[in-house]
Amino acid sequence: MSDLPITTSQLPLRQAVTELQPSAIRAFSAAVANIPGIIDLTVGEPDFNTPDTIKAAAVTSLEQNHTHYPPTPGTAELRQAIAAYLNEKYDLNYTADQTLATSGATESLWVSLYTITNPGDEIIIPTPAWPMYMSMVKAAGAFPVLVDTSSNHFVLSPELIEQTLAEHPNAKAIMLNFPSNPTGVTYTRDEVIALANVLKQHAIYVISDEIYAELTYHGRHTSLAELLPDQTILINGLSKSHAMTGWRFGMIAAPKFLAPSLIKVHQFTITAVPYIVQDAALAALTVGKNEAEPMLAEYKQRGALVHERMQAMGFEALAPQGVFYYFAKVPAWLKQTPSEFALALAHEQAVAVIAAESFGPGAEQYFRISYATSQDKLQLAMDRIEQYLADHRG
Ligand code: PMP
Repeated sequence: MSDLPITTSQLPLRQAVTELQPSAIRAFSAAVANIPGIIDLTVGEPDFNTPDTIKAAAVTSLEQNHTHYPPTPGTAELRQAIAAYLNEKYDLNYTADQTLATSGATESLWVSLYTITNPGDEIIIPTPAWPMYMSMVKAAGAFPVLVDTSSNHFVLSPELIEQTLAEHPNAKAIMLNFPSNPTGVTYTRDEVIALANVLKQHAIYVISDEIYAELTYHGRHTSLAELLPDQTILINGLSKSHAMTGWRFGMIAAPKFLAPSLIKVHQFTITAVPYIVQDAALAALTVGKNEAEPMLAEYKQRGALVHERMQAMGFEALAPQGVFYYFAKVPAWLKQTPSEFALALAHEQAVAVIAAESFGPGAEQYFRISYATSQDKLQLAMDRIEQYLADHRG
């Protein structure tokens, strides 16, 4: 080695990491954050605070000196509570040993992918999808197979999955997410059944990210794990349902044969979720199991407000069916790409929305509004979008 500064050309990184792009959402939010008076509708972060019962459990945990290494997969009580919560809410049949507490659903996804993929494996992702899926699959050395669902109201139809599996017979897994970030669409029970009927005929894992299940607007959420328990890696978490993004708590429920391997990967990834967080999560999943209800009611109202205003302005979009995301098309007459639209809207009207190009095929003309903010702010944001359209109509 010379005494010149060492560069990555001398000490190359793992290629997949070199090729990965940082999150476009976070980059855009940071870029527009300093615009005076900006109304930020970009990040999927509940504006509610964590309910008091959950915070109290964390305080008690500290007082009890739960500051030592906790059990890797989660305490016995916590794993029991994860199973009971999922079973009760979604009509499932898990035992505690099938569960794992993770650092956010993000770690759940990573552990799942790392455990089941070999380099070069294909992973099917219906799009538009949360861009993290594509990044994680690539980081794990696998290939995302992106399937555009925009012609079927953003729902993967049995025909489309049949066709995709015929073209990719060796696909290792499919990653599903409903209710969906970014589309706000969810699957009806019939749609879940139809999808499960196809998937059960194939040797393929289903990574089912149901982190927004508690934020379903109409009726009860149907989990893929109810219909396909032997193939499904069920992912959930408390970030959204319990306004706990900062606690970093997620969970996995998996077939019995798979759980020990997931736990092994989790162990060398983070060892364990912090004890305090495990104790807080235990409260959230037991005494706090219905804490999502008031938040859901509020999100529903906000979604209706946004939809009404956006429709009146002529935007093409589906009525929200869950979560707090609104997915709308940039009007063709504006002659702007979503990125151009989002940037101009931020600078001219101080409203930040996310251009959806990075959400994959089917999202090219769309932008996403996150309505996890107060109704007053949403009304103001809608007024500003209206003004933007008026200014550009000429
Ligand atoms: N899945 C989806 C679809 C998400 O939108 C998010 C958060 N944006 C996550 C998983 C990750 O959530 P967590 O905070 O639990 O890591």
